[in-house]
Amino acid sequence: MTANERKGTGVTGLSVIIAGGGVGGISLAGMLTRQGARVTVLEKTPPGRGRGAALAIWPNAMLGLLASGDAEMYDAVLALGRPVHHALMGSLDRRWYGRVDLRPLTEHYGVTGLGVVRTELMSALVELSGADIRYGQEVIGATPDGTVTLAGGETLRADVVVGADGVGSAVRRALRPPGSVDRLGKPHTGWQGVAHQTDIWDGTGPEFMFGMGGAAGMLPLTGGRTYWFVDGPIDTRPETQGWPEIVNRMIAATPEDQLAKDRVYTRAPVRGWGAGRITLLGDAAHPLLPTVGQGACMAIESAAVLAARLRDATDPVAALRQYERDRFRRVTTVFKRSITLLRQRSIPDPLRNGMLSLMPDRAITFFFTGSAKPIPEFAGAHLTGRRVRDSVPERDGGS
Ligand SMILES: Cc1cc2nc3c(=O)[nH]c(=O)nc-3n(C[C@H](O)[C@H](O)[C@H](O)COP(=O)(O)OP(=O)(O)OC[C@H]3O[C@@H](n4cnc5c(N)ncnc54)[C@H](O)[C@@H]3O)c2cc1C
Repeated sequence: MTANERKGTGVTGLSVIIAGGGVGGISLAGMLTRQGARVTVLEKTPPGRGRGAALAIWPNAMLGLLASGDAEMYDAVLALGRPVHHALMGSLDRRWYGRVDLRPLTEHYGVTGLGVVRTELMSALVELSGADIRYGQEVIGATPDGTVTLAGGETLRADVVVGADGVGSAVRRALRPPGSVDRLGKPHTGWQGVAHQTDIWDGTGPEFMFGMGGAAGMLPLTGGRTYWFVDGPIDTRPETQGWPEIVNRMIAATPEDQLAKDRVYTRAPVRGWGAGRITLLGDAAHPLLPTVGQGACMAIESAAVLAARLRDATDPVAALRQYERDRFRRVTTVFKRSITLLRQRSIPDPLRNGMLSLMPDRAITFFFTGSAKPIPEFAGAHLTGRRVRDSVPERDGGS
């Protein structure tokens, strides 16, 4: 099929290899197969071995799914998520200094923040991906002509290659000099899990507790489960570190196989992160600290922009460069916000608490929800005749 024939028919006939079957890669696969592309995903781990326990998925990602995927993808994620309508910010002794009102997100975009279990999210996206997903296939190299090399020695070729292989991306390493994955100055680790006990916390929205150079938090999930996390300079298990008692109880209620520990990395986005037929997506291109809770959402949002650029272009290589240009400013803004939030953690606790208590809730809400708002090209996706539900009511009572 010629480039001109492709115009207006999406990416029909385009062959795409996606290195990495994480949330970004699989979301992109679903978006592209819906436009008629032939997509192969190469994932180095066996099926069901994703990292992390749960995630907050925000409207910016949801409307990206709807705009470049379809209502089926959107509805599948919505059905897994527990909507949250407010968030609380406070200290380690659970004194709340700020309340973030998330209801305007629903009013404007038809959806609010959703707490989802990562394995459940991945299963749903995989089922809807329509792609040829090859597990146990490690990509070790890629060249701008669209050739990908696997650890077993096999080479594959495609019209477009997307490195969605996470923060340590082999595709990125093939394009850029070594040493381009920067670690934070101090050891920074994210611990997280899904607690199954329903009677230890009755919160109806996320709670964020700042202190000890890090943060701990909880987010309600479906089925009475709770997503909890602790991140900061904590290498050993958090139970021994003096975090709030509620966190210890969450850990005790978490099955060992649902407790995850991740080293947390970040890196400032660089312009033009691709070359030739290759581009990068998600953490491979722009890893974000969990301080901003947007890494997976940015991966989905980037997937939606990439799918849209490929759909609208006659030349896929030009589409990749356009996508990289279009994403740079947005991901840089969110990256800077993540760093600001990291710095806020190093302010002595009494001073930060004092500052938080002086800030009006509207200002805290503005800052907290800034990244969660959809980018302009997707902001009206829920108004264009697609079905949108946000019907799970907030639990009564609350924190
Ligand atoms: C503690 C913590 C809390 C977080 N909370 C949130 C949150 O609430 N909301 C949010 O949006 N984000 C959150 N994030 C960030 C989020 O987890 C990541 O940004 C997101 O997973 C990035 O998705 P990705 O698809 O780009 O990469 P990944 O999810 O890392 O997926 C990359 C995939 O590529 C595979 N792979 C790697 N190398 C190769 C290779 N050479 N060949 C083939 N396959 C390969 C990996 O096995 C993996 O499956 C959090 C992160 C942490 C650490």
